[in-house]
Amino acid sequence: MKDLGFASKIAAQYNDVPKEKWSDWRWQLSHRLNSVEDFEQILQLSESEKKGLSKSDLFRVDITPYFVSLIDPNDPDDPIRKQVIPLEGEIVPFTGMMDDSLAEDRDSPVPGLVHRYPDRALMLVTTQCASYCRYCTRSRIVGDPMETFSKAEFNAQIEYLKRTPQIRDVLLSGGDPLTLKPSILEELLTRLREIPHIEIIRLGTRTPVFMPMRVTDELCDMLSQFHPLWMNIHVNHPNEITTELAEACDKLSRAGIPLGNQSVLLAGVNDCVHIQRKLVHDLVKIRVRPYYLYQCDLVPGAGHFRTPVSKGIEIIEGLRGHTSGYAIPTFVVDAPGGGGKIPVGPTYLISQSDHKIVLRNYEGYITAYEEPDTYQKHDVKNCQYCQSKRQELGQSGIHGLLEGESFGIIPQHFLETHSRSEEQHRLRGDASKWKPLGIGSEE
Ligand SMILES: *Cc1c(COP(=O)(O)O)cnc(C)c1O
Repeated sequence: MKDLGFASKIAAQYNDVPKEKWSDWRWQLSHRLNSVEDFEQILQLSESEKKGLSKSDLFRVDITPYFVSLIDPNDPDDPIRKQVIPLEGEIVPFTGMMDDSLAEDRDSPVPGLVHRYPDRALMLVTTQCASYCRYCTRSRIVGDPMETFSKAEFNAQIEYLKRTPQIRDVLLSGGDPLTLKPSILEELLTRLREIPHIEIIRLGTRTPVFMPMRVTDELCDMLSQFHPLWMNIHVNHPNEITTELAEACDKLSRAGIPLGNQSVLLAGVNDCVHIQRKLVHDLVKIRVRPYYLYQCDLVPGAGHFRTPVSKGIEIIEGLRGHTSGYAIPTFVVDAPGGGGKIPVGPTYLISQSDHKIVLRNYEGYITAYEEPDTYQKHDVKNCQYCQSKRQELGQSGIHGLLEGESFGIIPQHFLETHSRSEEQHRLRGDASKWKPLGIGSEE
């Protein structure tokens, strides 16, 4: 393969590991680093890192030698180091912090299966990862080797998918599905493929980044039996893009798997337009399409990684127009309380009248677009696609309002508040009838 020009920075300490061992993913897994003693062979640990590594109540630490070898030992602020090595004070509570900030547990009809959107479901197939990210959005369940899904739970997930024909897209995540025993992953994919209404299967995995040697020819052959299969990897910083990762992605692409990337916006790691631009350029060079850039979730451990949402908007402002459209991810806030991903970005629509809209481009150039005055409306009655659409009650959303199915979306307690009879007034005067409201209140 062509030399893509990425320098592999294998730490001198690993130079004496034979190549066969280094490039064996099982060796990588069984030689993960997790203690002060392990890391001190390689890095000068700070006091806070030492204390973090000695605490037993922190989220699990385990990092492959390959990923550790990407850390620059001379840089205490190394962006890879910050993602995986714990700090003593990482679990500082902050306003808004929640264990399950995306309310995934509430959206799970059976344990481990999150069915939030109309036509797709997220299947948590394992609690294990190749290495553990300090800002993990699922630290409430991930990492504990005892807390993994049972055969019975697997079966219940599959049964739910079978009896829910609106699900056409199943996303395998966890934990990391590529840490499953190969035979178990194959069985799972086989069982999903037997369900006729499942059109696409996706894998969400950071294994190619933590351990690119896991992407073997056998794995690619196995996966390619289950097309259409898509994959999202998770790269946050250009330093994670190595020759080894490039090779792994090349293999996956040749196996016919379209690759995307999901990254998380992290303070001190990638909260910079220029780092992000280099990241997305390096990703498209290895044929990985930036998919989402996530605002950091409100979970314990992520406090010191959070940036203002406006930082993400600034990054998108610095990408759109400035670089290839293929290289631009969608910046999203995963709604606290479980509303799903909400895209946020700069505003390009400046104004509008009954015949014109005014737009601005990335350079600040302002233009007016004349709207057509002879638009023949789409013929809904004679459109077979419009006529055959199906929507679950309550999920037609804002688009449903546009289609005229209903006249509004009514907030909690709206109807009571506006039934202003004398009796209602009297009750509202009574302070004991007032209850604080918030996400998670059951009424
Ligand atoms: C992210 C996510 C999906 C997939 O969303 P896409 O926007 O289709 O990538 C599905 N279900 C849940 C619960 C999710 O969090």
